[in-house]
Amino acid sequence: AKNGGRGQFRFYASDLKDEEQERQTVLDDLREALEGDQLYLQYQPVVSIKTGNVVCLEALMRWEHPERGFVSPGTFIPVAEDSDLINNLGEWALRTACEAALEWPKSVRVAVNVSAVQFANQGFPTVVANALAHTGIDPDRVELELTESIFVGDNDETERMFKNLKSLGVRLALDDFGTGYSSLSYLRAAPFDKIKVDKSFVDSCTQKDKNSAKIIAAIVGLSNALNMETTVEGVEAFDQLEVVKEKGAKLVQGFIYSRPLHQTAVLENFESGEFT
Ligand code: C2E
Ligand code: CA
Ligand code: CA
Ligand code: CA
Repeated sequence: AKNGGRGQFRFYASDLKDEEQERQTVLDDLREALEGDQLYLQYQPVVSIKTGNVVCLEALMRWEHPERGFVSPGTFIPVAEDSDLINNLGEWALRTACEAALEWPKSVRVAVNVSAVQFANQGFPTVVANALAHTGIDPDRVELELTESIFVGDNDETERMFKNLKSLGVRLALDDFGTGYSSLSYLRAAPFDKIKVDKSFVDSCTQKDKNSAKIIAAIVGLSNALNMETTVEGVEAFDQLEVVKEKGAKLVQGFIYSRPLHQTAVLENFESGEFT
C-alpha cells in the first residue's frame, strides 16, 4: 500500500479497516486546507560544497492542520495522489515556489517536486507554462523534480512529455535516484539536467562494510559522464559530508547545512550574506 510503507498513516488510522474512511477524511481536510491558509511551502537550501553558496532551494509542502497539527507530506501526498487533488496541490506549489524565487538572487534556482500523477496528465506542460507566464520567472531557474515512478506509462507519451517540458526551458531533475528499479535504462534517453542521490546512500556511507560510499562515487561519475549535475541529499553529519566530498559530489542538501526554512528566513539569510 502506498501509505503503509513508513507507517505514518497510523497517525490517522489505528486499524486497517478504518483506513479507507480515514483516507477520505484526510482528503476532505486537504481540500479545505488548500482553500484556506493551512498549506504553505518551506525551502531547503542546496549548497555548493566548494563555495558554501546556496545555488538552489527545494520547495517542500507543509500542512498545519487546525486540530491534528503538523501532517507530514509523506502522509498526505500519497492520499492526494489517489485523487485529482494532487494536480491542484502541485499547481499551487509550482506557482507559490516561482513567486518566492522571484525574491531571491537571480543566480539561485527553485526546485519543485512533481508527482507522477501530475506528469501523466496531458495538460501538465500547460500548467507549467502558465506558472512561468504568470510569475514571469526565467524558466532556467525552475527545476522540476521527478521520480522514476513517471516511467510506468507509455514510452512515447513519456518522451513527448519530456520534449514539451524541455521546450519550455525548465530544468529536470531525477529525484531519489537509486531507490527504484532499472534506473540506468531511464537515463538512456531522458533529458535530465540533474540527478539527486537518495538519502539512503548517505545514511550508510560512513560504514566501511557497506558499498554506499562507492555507489555515491559511481553515481557522481555517471552523471558527470552524462553532463548532468548531482545533488547528494540528506547529509546530516560532518563525517558524511567528508565522504560525499571525497567521492566527488559538488552539491549537497541536508540538515548539516540547513533544514527547510520559511520564505522569511530564506530572505533574511540572503540579506545577511549567510547564503552567499
Ligand atoms: P523528497 O522530495 O525526497 O524531499 C526530501 C525530504 O528529505 C524532505 O522531507 C526533507 O525535509 C528531507 N530531508 C532533507 N535533508 C534531510 C536530512 O539531512 N535529514 C533528514 N532526516 N531528512 C532530510 P519532507 O519535506 O518530509 O518531504 C517528504 C517527501 O514528500 C518528499 O521527499 C517528496 O517526495 C514529498 N513532497 C514534499 N513536498 C512535495 C510537493 O510539493 N509535491 C510533491 N509531489 N511531493 C512533495
Ligand atoms: Ca524532491
Ligand atoms: Ca529526494
Ligand atoms: Ca524521498
